[in-house]
Amino acid sequence: MRGIEQLAPLLNDPNLSAAHRHIAQKIADNQRIDFDEGVFLFEHGALPYVGTLANFIREKKNGDNTFFNRNFHIEPTNLCVYDCKFCSYSRLIKQRNDPSAWTFSMDEMFDIVRKYDGQPVTEVHIVGGVLPQYDLPFYLEFFQKIKNHRPELHVKALTPVEYHYIFKKAKVSYEEGMKLIKDAGVDSMPGGGAEIFHPEIREQIAADKCDADQWLRIHEIWHELGMRSNATMLYGHIEQWHHRIDHLERLRQLQDKTGGFQTFIPLKFRNQDNQMSHIAESTTVEDLRNYAISRIYLDNFDHIKTYWPMIGRTTAQLALAFGVDDLDGTIDDTTKIYSMAGSEEQHPALTTQQLVDMIRRVGRRPIERDTLYNVLQDFTDVEFEEDKAYRGYIELPVIGGN
Ligand code: SF4
Repeated sequence: MRGIEQLAPLLNDPNLSAAHRHIAQKIADNQRIDFDEGVFLFEHGALPYVGTLANFIREKKNGDNTFFNRNFHIEPTNLCVYDCKFCSYSRLIKQRNDPSAWTFSMDEMFDIVRKYDGQPVTEVHIVGGVLPQYDLPFYLEFFQKIKNHRPELHVKALTPVEYHYIFKKAKVSYEEGMKLIKDAGVDSMPGGGAEIFHPEIREQIAADKCDADQWLRIHEIWHELGMRSNATMLYGHIEQWHHRIDHLERLRQLQDKTGGFQTFIPLKFRNQDNQMSHIAESTTVEDLRNYAISRIYLDNFDHIKTYWPMIGRTTAQLALAFGVDDLDGTIDDTTKIYSMAGSEEQHPALTTQQLVDMIRRVGRRPIERDTLYNVLQDFTDVEFEEDKAYRGYIELPVIGGN
């Protein structure tokens, strides 16, 4: 069953309240829900209800397509001048001799790039802590080095948190700085550093780094240069429902203006080894509701992504029925952000076959994309050598209901 008829059982349910029906009808009619309705969904939207609406939108926008890419990360350092309360990853400068701290030199970072020579990766994702020695000249040289070495490798690098700091230090405006990094070879910006925009929360969890307006302004300038970026929200800690909707609303407004965001990535707060360890983590049901409501609210975003290392493989598969259409990438054990925060995935790495299998097993189409969502290969019917091997049993196809 596809299309508007997917919503018929919901719309015809005699037990549905008038308010729930009104929102469902809006989704069926391709209308945008407003702020209060977004808060209502968090307050009163049971998982099956928001999931049905989110899956309808997901399939209308992307069908069964489920995107992934082949990528690796470089995290230059986990020392940081900032002290975000939720951060499990960073160490303060005074902890620089701690065995868990690292600072890579330019050569060490470039060695990571060279390690992937000849491998079919399409993207390098670069983010890390903020330190004075990783300044604008350092990064401009590094980006240029990558591009000279491997021009086709997509460089997705640094968030407004880093850009705000390095531009200020270099005494250049955001406009001048973004132009410089574009010319040096940055192809797109990841979505990190957004946390929760609302000052009531931001000032408690991330008071000293760039604020919401600065984060949004840097993305806006980047979009005005014709470039694309992603957006995130760190949820499930001290924020309330209206703070989440405020966050989504600000993103939706900027997207209306520029159209430059590609995907929205909800980031689950993890409570290991940080200053907010006393706060319980959100449940899987809450994670799925958050994906679904994000999908419903952000009607002008094409994609909703989950990082499988952050929520685990099984929940990532489940999320594909709750509005998510992108699982990010192979990653190849090159990020510590999630493992240090307590994720079950302590060495996140998937082969292409494993990612494809994860997607196929829940009845979706695995599509390898580049960073800008150009389709590189449809893996739906691709047979891997291992698929042909006799495993002692015969795998029967799953019979779908549609
Ligand atoms: S979240 Fe980012 S800016 Fe904040 S302390 Fe951690 S590494 Fe630094």
